[in-house]
Amino acid sequence: MAGASVKVAVRVRPFNSRETGRNAKCVIQMQGNTTCISNPKQPKDGAKNFTFDYSYWSHTTIDDPSFASQRQVYKDIGEEMLLHAFEGYNVCIFAYGQTGAGKSYTMMGKQEPGQEGIIPQLCEDLFQRTGENTDPDLTYSVEVSYMEIYCERVRDLLNPKSQGTLRVREHPILGPYVEDLSKLAVTGFTDIRDLMDAGNKARTVAATNMNETSSRSHAVFTIVFTQKRRDQMTSLDTEKVSKISLVDLAGSERADSSGAKGTRLKEGANINKSLTTLGKVISALAEMSSKKRKSDFIPYRDSVLTWLLKENLGGNSRTAMIAALSPADINYEETLSTLRYADRAK
Ligand code: ADP
Repeated sequence: MAGASVKVAVRVRPFNSRETGRNAKCVIQMQGNTTCISNPKQPKDGAKNFTFDYSYWSHTTIDDPSFASQRQVYKDIGEEMLLHAFEGYNVCIFAYGQTGAGKSYTMMGKQEPGQEGIIPQLCEDLFQRTGENTDPDLTYSVEVSYMEIYCERVRDLLNPKSQGTLRVREHPILGPYVEDLSKLAVTGFTDIRDLMDAGNKARTVAATNMNETSSRSHAVFTIVFTQKRRDQMTSLDTEKVSKISLVDLAGSERADSSGAKGTRLKEGANINKSLTTLGKVISALAEMSSKKRKSDFIPYRDSVLTWLLKENLGGNSRTAMIAALSPADINYEETLSTLRYADRAK
C-alpha cells in the first residue's frame, strides 16, 4: 500500500482577543514543514520539533505577513483528496484539536470571500469539474448526508424531525452504515450549502468551563459521488462510487482540564474513546503502509466514529488529517498533545 499513508498537516491559528488581552506568548514556530513547540516553563531547552506533510502558519502578530490561506489549505489537501475521489477512492479528511484551535474554521470556514473552509471549496470544485464534462457516456450523481456523533450515538443533522438516535448497522458487502440516515440528492453547490447551513444550525453545542460554545460532538459530512459510464457497444452501465467523508471532530481537550463533572465527564470519556480509537486506527494504518507492522488487525469496532468511517480509512481509501493548534503559551500542554497525536498518524 505504498503511497496510501495518511497525509498529515498542522495549522496554527492567530491569537484570539482573549490571548492578546492577556499578553500571551507564542510557543509555536514553523519552518518549511517543520513545527517547533517551546515549553514556556523551559524556554531554553524545552523545544520539540515535529515534521509533517504541511505546517501552516498564520499571522500571530500584526507585522507578520506569512500565513496559509483557506485557498492554500484547500489546494494542498482538499483538491488532492477530491482527485482521488474522481479516481474512485473513498476519501476522508478530518480536523483534530482542542476546542477553539481552528477545526471548524478549517473545515467549514466562514461565508465570506476567501474565508470558506475545505468543505464548501471541495463541493464547489466537485460541481465545477462535473459541470465541465462533455462525455455523453459519463454521468455523475451526488448525494449528501450530515450526521453528528455524540456520546457514541448518531443524530441526523439533515432531518430535524428525526428525534433521538439512529441505529448503526452492518451491510454484508457495503459495510457499516446508519439506518434511516437522510441521503439527499443534490445537483449544485447552492443545494449543498443550504443543507450544510441547516445542518450546522442543528448541531449540538454545549457549554463547558473551557469554552461556552465548545463542541462536544463529532460532525461527519458525507458526499457519495457516483460516476456512471455507459458502454456504447453493450449499452451496459458501470458505476464507480466514492464516499467522501469530511469530519470536524469534537474538541480533544481532556475532561479533567475543563473541570468536568457528571454528564460532562461522561461526555469527555466518550469523546476521548472515539479520539483515542481514531488515533489507534490511523497509526495502525500508517504502520501497515510503511510495513512496520505485520498484524492487520485494526480496532475499527471500538468506537462508533471509527466503525462508520471504516470504508474511508485504510483499504481502498485516502485519508488526510489536519491538526489545529493554538499559538498561545497558556495552551501549551494541549497543543503538545495535539502535535503528538498528529505525529502518530504519519
Ligand atoms: P474549533 O472548531 O477548533 O473549536 P474554530 O474553528 O471555531 O475552533 O476557531 C476559533 C476561532 O478562531 C474562530 O473565531 C475562527 O474564526 C478563528 N480561527 C481559527 N483558525 C483560524 C485561522 N487559521 N485564521 C483565522 N482565524 C482563525
